[in-house]
Amino acid sequence: MILDRATIPPATVLVRCAHLLDPRTGLDGPGDLLVRDGTVAEIGEPGGLEAPAGAEVVEGEGLHAFPGFVDPHVHLRTPGREDEEDIQTGTRAAAAGGFCAILAMPNTDPVVDSAPVLLSLRERARAEARVPTGFTAAVTVGQGGVELTEMAELADAGAIGFTDDGLPLRSARMMRQALQYQKLAGRTLALHEEDPSLSGDGVMHEGEVSALLGLAGIPSISESAIVARDCQLAQYEGGRIHVQHVSARETVEVLERAKAAGVEVTAEATPHHLLLTHDAVRSLDTHTKMNPPLRAEADRQALIEGLRSGVLDCVATDHAPHSREEKEQPFELAPMGVTGLETAFAAIHTDLVVSGVVELGLVVERMTAGGEPFGLHVPRIEPGAAADICLVDLSAEWEVGEAGYESRSANNAFTGRRLTGRVRMTIAAGAVAFRERSFAIGAV
Ligand SMILES: [Zn+2]
Ligand SMILES: [Zn+2]
Repeated sequence: MILDRATIPPATVLVRCAHLLDPRTGLDGPGDLLVRDGTVAEIGEPGGLEAPAGAEVVEGEGLHAFPGFVDPHVHLRTPGREDEEDIQTGTRAAAAGGFCAILAMPNTDPVVDSAPVLLSLRERARAEARVPTGFTAAVTVGQGGVELTEMAELADAGAIGFTDDGLPLRSARMMRQALQYQKLAGRTLALHEEDPSLSGDGVMHEGEVSALLGLAGIPSISESAIVARDCQLAQYEGGRIHVQHVSARETVEVLERAKAAGVEVTAEATPHHLLLTHDAVRSLDTHTKMNPPLRAEADRQALIEGLRSGVLDCVATDHAPHSREEKEQPFELAPMGVTGLETAFAAIHTDLVVSGVVELGLVVERMTAGGEPFGLHVPRIEPGAAADICLVDLSAEWEVGEAGYESRSANNAFTGRRLTGRVRMTIAAGAVAFRERSFAIGAV
């Protein structure tokens, strides 16, 4: 599996006296961390490591060093809507959020459904991407749901996985065929799950708030019923699926049963579904409009529990940039989706970790696990590993929107919120991909 990125010189950095935390290696305490030529060279006692000549020295006192995050669900809007995001701005946003790798969705214009489109994107990523970027390809031609793409050829051309994200695979027969080809192509099938006959023209979660506002609702069963169907099909065909942006309690229950029955299924949850509910839609702020919709408190609690138990394997942002003009339309007309790369960690940290709901280590584990469903390696802080590291100040407070975004779009669900925790530096695949402007670095 190959991810693409622009050529950036490998880093030699000594991080001194930071709190090193990697739940997978058991690392949890103050220490020095030396990255030499892009590789984790040494981990030592605080103040114990010497900086090699030419190294950048980061005084890490008060900072945490985590393995870099991996986002399996990003819309880079390229090709077609570069006014909303492109590979450069999207991957800069990723690096600013502590992500050392991302996977891009294929619902672009044109759709990534052929090898030439995929190969041209990969070429652009090799010129522009700040962090390693993988491209998924569509399951069906033009995401039309009628004809399968040439999945084997697309896999050969470097598709990391297959998805028609933005749309579900309506037909069970099409889903079954996709699973058969998925096995041959050896790439995971990622699924945007909803039954359009149940979602209808809904614009928010079907519940007391939609009733109060008089808006058409999308019931939870629209998601969970299709997830149940696809888990059964995956089991029948021996295929491998990844359920995107789980939003409903019922879906968590379906996934728990499927996993217990041995279905090869993984799942992701977004920060907005973990932290917000349909109550936020009362404002009719279009930054609360996304698909799947923000659901009820019981759903949110089930997602948090799913994250804890591992039924939900990873956090994904579903970073979905939209232009200001589009989001400034009335609620019913505005497009669905919010940005999230630059706020994901801070928002989860603020609402779940600072408040004592979940442990920091668990958040780090789930935010670094996004590549695993696609067979990508999980970043670790250990000698010999490529340096995928983010340095975070857990006590820094900032207001969302205040400091500006690397992303070209600003349609963030947490706009105006004060968050605690700020990424200061990201090293991705051995190279410095992001350094906060105010963050001074010394050299020897
Ligand atoms: Zn989706
Ligand atoms: Zn999406």
